[in-house]
Amino acid sequence: MNTHLLNAALSAAERGWYVFPLRAGSKRPALHGETSCPGTGPCVSGHAKWEQRATTDPDRIRAAWSHGPFNVGIATGPSGLVVVDLDMPKNQDKGNEGTPSGVATFEALCERTGHPVPDTYRTRTASGGAHLYFTAPDGVRLSNTAGSIAPLVDTRARGGYVVAAGSLTPAGPYEAVGGAVAAPVPAWLLSILQPTPKPVQAPTGVVAGQSRRYADVALDCEVRNVVTAADGTRNATLLRAARALGRFIASGDLPRTVVEQALRGAAGANATQPQRYYDDVIRRALDWSITHNPARGRAA
Ligand SMILES: [Zn+2]
Repeated sequence: MNTHLLNAALSAAERGWYVFPLRAGSKRPALHGETSCPGTGPCVSGHAKWEQRATTDPDRIRAAWSHGPFNVGIATGPSGLVVVDLDMPKNQDKGNEGTPSGVATFEALCERTGHPVPDTYRTRTASGGAHLYFTAPDGVRLSNTAGSIAPLVDTRARGGYVVAAGSLTPAGPYEAVGGAVAAPVPAWLLSILQPTPKPVQAPTGVVAGQSRRYADVALDCEVRNVVTAADGTRNATLLRAARALGRFIASGDLPRTVVEQALRGAAGANATQPQRYYDDVIRRALDWSITHNPARGRAA
């Protein structure tokens, strides 16, 4: 029996994460698929897929891992996790040398939206990418996403799984590399992951591209912050939003008129002050931010 892999499964389960066996040396579930279901054991009243069979029960885990050197899968949905999967670009030797990794893309997104890179339980994947583990809020249904936050940035939640630290593949091991516990998913990230209607019409007809994409995400996010700001915090939120978005104007990723219009609309949605007042806050904050942020190409 491979105690290393058994211990990896048990320690994930101790954290309250629901585990199931993956094929030895692989990322694929070791459990039978629906088409080859024998209809016995756990499937006696219908096929149970890996998400339903994943467990935190140490006895069931010991029994399962006594049958072979299985890698460890964590079913993110039952575990109450949302894991951000930062991938490496494929085909580095086929003209994709310049493609940034998911790690770099995500760090740039944090930087450009004015948030720190979240400090949380993190693993290094076999390919050299990273998994950032977060706890999902109670009662919030998050699904898997693929590339909707940014290129090479996926998320695993309900219906998804990740390969746990301690697992081994021919490409390399999965290792825990920092962050003792999974932190709650940051509000700004949650607001991107939750499919909520946009309160203000986003600009259309603009050039597609990666930095445009960060800028659009940031604009949506800040507009939402302003619209949903509690009374008494709206002015501060508006100021923060304008300062955060000013850097995208400075870098040329958002036209100033688009930002001004979006923030005007957002501030006016629940106005407690005359519109002129908000216009002034927006103008001053944008001026400040544009002077204090680098134009494209001037700084790294
Ligand atoms: Zn079955």
